[in-house]
Amino acid sequence: MRGISVGGVYTSLAVPELGVLFDAGASPRSLGTSDTILLSHGHADHVGALPALLGIRGLSGKTRPPRVVMPAEIVDDLSAALAALSKLQRFPLAIEPIGMRPGDEIALRGDLRIRAVATFHPVPSLAYILVRRVAKLRPDFHGMTGPEIGALRRRGVDVTEHEDRLELAYATDTLISALDHAPELYEVGTLIMECTFLDERKSVAAARAGCHVHLDEVIERAERFANRHVVMMHFSQLYRPDEIPAILDARLPPALRRKVVPFLPAGAHWPG
Ligand SMILES: [Zn+2]
Ligand SMILES: [Zn+2]
Repeated sequence: MRGISVGGVYTSLAVPELGVLFDAGASPRSLGTSDTILLSHGHADHVGALPALLGIRGLSGKTRPPRVVMPAEIVDDLSAALAALSKLQRFPLAIEPIGMRPGDEIALRGDLRIRAVATFHPVPSLAYILVRRVAKLRPDFHGMTGPEIGALRRRGVDVTEHEDRLELAYATDTLISALDHAPELYEVGTLIMECTFLDERKSVAAARAGCHVHLDEVIERAERFANRHVVMMHFSQLYRPDEIPAILDARLPPALRRKVVPFLPAGAHWPG
């Protein structure tokens, strides 16, 4: 993962090997070439840098508009905003908009699909799960040798079955209840989730009023996280980046702490 995330300021996180960019709140030059951009919602700290990213994409010689996946309810407004900016610049800021609703799936590439999941924020919003379809040997053929399986295949026996592997999810700007409504998020290999507030400097009630996650709510659910990694991001500026690992050390149960990777810059200051 590469990018920038500061709660309420800007969030853009790329996963280069999958060719995806989650949110478009900042426009560092290295993030301009993703072919698929997944927008969680329309707040400025998540979409404000989309025009700049499209400009960088143009400079990098990519001529095809990127696919921009977003909640279905915001497609018209985002398209109108880009049309106005295209007019302003005398330069087309073209995208291929794809509106999604919770439960919808679209192909990403190869055997990967994108699944939309409901989140809870004051504006239309979504989380996304990247699902990989893998072929496996059917259990009734376990224990057979390679040549035996090959012989069955040649006789036309279907020895495989398919399984969905939940590889990666991105859930931000939401009440924690998004996890309870879509418990598969607890099973995803790598869960990227917001944890905007971390301690008593902001109460749980105040965090919930803004529809954000507080670490207290994560701690309450600590046993449920079956993920390999939980990448926490969208931290509030109330905290300095260099104090966050120690807050997590002190507050999270050790088994969950081992899985948590805070997405932070080096040093004591947030980027910018
Ligand atoms: Zn945000
Ligand atoms: Zn928001």
